[in-house]
Amino acid sequence: MRGKVTKFMKHLFTEKVVPVELDNPAIQIDYDKCIKCGLCKRTCDNEIAVANRFNLEETNDLAICIHCGQCAVACPTQAITQVEDYQKVKEEIQNPEKIVIFNTAPAVRVALGEEFGYEVGSYVEDKMVESLRKLGGDYVFDITFGADMTIMEEANELIDRILNKSENLPQFTSCCPSWVKYVETFYPEFIPNLSTTKSPIGIQGAAIKTYFAKKENIDPSKIVNVTITPCTSKKYEIKRPEMNDSSRFNNIDGLRDNDYIITTKELAKWIKEENIDFDSLNGSQFDNIMGLGSGAGIIFGNTGGVMEAAVRTAYNILTGERPTKELLDFKPVRGLEGVKEAVLQIDEKVIKVAAVQTTKNAEVLMEKLKSKEVNYHFIEVMTCKGGCIGGAGQPKQPKKRVT
Ligand code: SF4
Repeated sequence: MRGKVTKFMKHLFTEKVVPVELDNPAIQIDYDKCIKCGLCKRTCDNEIAVANRFNLEETNDLAICIHCGQCAVACPTQAITQVEDYQKVKEEIQNPEKIVIFNTAPAVRVALGEEFGYEVGSYVEDKMVESLRKLGGDYVFDITFGADMTIMEEANELIDRILNKSENLPQFTSCCPSWVKYVETFYPEFIPNLSTTKSPIGIQGAAIKTYFAKKENIDPSKIVNVTITPCTSKKYEIKRPEMNDSSRFNNIDGLRDNDYIITTKELAKWIKEENIDFDSLNGSQFDNIMGLGSGAGIIFGNTGGVMEAAVRTAYNILTGERPTKELLDFKPVRGLEGVKEAVLQIDEKVIKVAAVQTTKNAEVLMEKLKSKEVNYHFIEVMTCKGGCIGGAGQPKQPKKRVT
């Protein structure tokens, strides 16, 4: 085992139930509810490839966690649950000095309805936006806008690495914070291969407290940036020390790009607690300035989506033309297989890409990369099955258990 570790729930990784101080921003445990069934550990081993990949003696009794929250999804007794932050957001809304901005990730609008009895996959964007206004948001923005900025940056970076024959190929996506931490912990030699581009929430958070604040003449320290995501790991991502570009631009100590993450489940709980009749909402639209995004941005929520968006954009940058029909319907990286591959030709360049779901599948691929059994130009990795639509903050689906 190499790399940095995080103090977390030892019980996930050992047969002992030992109370430890919890400092995990994403996941919490109630030991009284734990029946020691081991489902959390099995998921962490079989899907996430973290449990059983390190030795507690070597890590000074500190267990590793990449904050994906899939252990909480597997737990049948709710002993492991996600950390909730929406009560803190409620308090911020009570403060008249503060300007609360909600941003919503692409996958939330297709899952929130399930908590209100809608069919799985129902598209409830308009009702979601109106709910956020009723809860007290001063602005409601779409993270699809940030996803578009991420993909422009990431595609340019990829082209640059390919044209300059960079030794840091393949380029890995970096928008999944659990995957980034996985590489940092288990494959540090591949850190230079991670895209240097921030995730959509990372870019949009900084843009709100710099560009938007300046444009609207708002003191950035009064802005409370809240993003609703399908992901528990984003609670960890926004606390990473480097996520403070807005502080550097504004010269305000302690200013963070994003202040709170709440999940789809938390938002549903909050709406219910406020007795908002979701069904009867007529719907509202995102605010203009950061409320529009492209189809490329919206598919970030699916496995293969970032890859598909990147190759479309790379095509446009390299040829100056709109993506071909095949690229706009890029079937090879769609679907739920663990690893999907494609080879495409853009101009004279032959580009080999792969889209991977679950870090367990990524572990297999990383070993093949290390032994030079395979090679690619660009690899997308999403920690959760199906990508962010399967994030731990989404409504709980009946799930086939890992055996
Ligand atoms: Fe979060 Fe998506 Fe990564 Fe899952 S796949 S940990 S939901 S960013």
